Amino acid sequence: MTGSPRRIAAVGAGLTGAVIARELAEAGFEVDVFDSRHHIAGNCYTERDGETGVMVHVYGPHIFHTDDEDVWNYVNRYETFLPYKNRVKTTVGGQVYALPVNLHTINQFFGKAMRPAEARAFIESQADTSITDPQSFEEQALRFVGRALYEAFFEGYTRKQWGCAPSELPASILKRLPVRFNYDDNYFFHRFQGMPENGYTAMVERILDHPGITLHLRTAFHRVQTRGYAHVFYSGPLDGYFDYEDGRLGYRTLDFERFTFKGDYQGCAVMNYGEASVPYTRITEHKHFAPWEQHEGSICYREYARACEPGDTPYYPIRLVQEKALLAHYAGKARAERGVTFSGRLGTYRYLDMDVTIREALDTARQFMAAVAKGEAMPAFAVAAA
Ligand code: UDP
Repeated sequence: MTGSPRRIAAVGAGLTGAVIARELAEAGFEVDVFDSRHHIAGNCYTERDGETGVMVHVYGPHIFHTDDEDVWNYVNRYETFLPYKNRVKTTVGGQVYALPVNLHTINQFFGKAMRPAEARAFIESQADTSITDPQSFEEQALRFVGRALYEAFFEGYTRKQWGCAPSELPASILKRLPVRFNYDDNYFFHRFQGMPENGYTAMVERILDHPGITLHLRTAFHRVQTRGYAHVFYSGPLDGYFDYEDGRLGYRTLDFERFTFKGDYQGCAVMNYGEASVPYTRITEHKHFAPWEQHEGSICYREYARACEPGDTPYYPIRLVQEKALLAHYAGKARAERGVTFSGRLGTYRYLDMDVTIREALDTARQFMAAVAKGEAMPAFAVAAA
């Protein structure tokens, strides 16, 4: 270790950096938090729109849901979470359907009035049972929902979202979405679900509000600065830490076309567009993310996904074959670094939900404190992300 043994850097002021900084500050460490952006909270940054007064999810919708009671208690300690159920609709073929695919979707799509067991048998009859161990997104869909539903609801959307054929994507992406044989249209099936009353920025502000934490916004962190710290927790892009010297890990980025509307534009927070012929994936109407607020005006985002170029904001790690090889290469370099732990979505190049991000940040901080107590070195990747 170099520098003062109590001096820590947390790079990135999103959920990972903020949670680690807070845990360590409470344990008596002095933590410098760096972020190259002008704001905290990373991609869950929210701000009130000056024109409409609506709380805007500036980098797209973030809905908090978890089964992890500790994480739920953690976020509730820093912000009031109000009840919110994510009910997503999708427009396909000039009709509006409910997602995730549920009994209503199935009955509407096939023009039937089936009960749960009938629908289950019907969908099974549509499924390609020759696929025993689905590997790709497409195989997973054909096996579990059949071709008709796959083509209507998943194929076009996924091509737009990921910029490649669903046959090239891992099955794990589709496994995020359940198929239900009842009328439950809650997008998530976790025990706890809610929205921060005053937005995520307010929550992260409180997490960072500790005398042991010094925040440096608009401040990029360079590898050479590692020397000045006893340890660095890096939640920026893994390849970015090495100045992309061996190439860039692939990401999808999002463009948002913002528009305002007087009244209620679409009647729900998220309207997906399943067809490839519609260039955007979805429209989000932000006032519906805070159903306890009243606003006359409305602000919406039309969301477009595309390949992330240098200078763009990275959102979704692609993790296809070529990225996996490059990831293994950078992970090897990371393991050879001393005094740096790579964490979070960008630091470990994984598609993480907010609750998992917080869980891992808490575990990483604890693992570090245990390592310090035993006089051991902290690994480049904490246990969960190894
Ligand atoms: N997906 C789809 N149609 C939809 C919604 C989602 O095909 O209407 C697919 C798409 O490939 C997406 C994945 O399911 O990337 C996971 O969806 P989720 O809603 O979890 O994506 P997120 O909100 O994280 O972008």
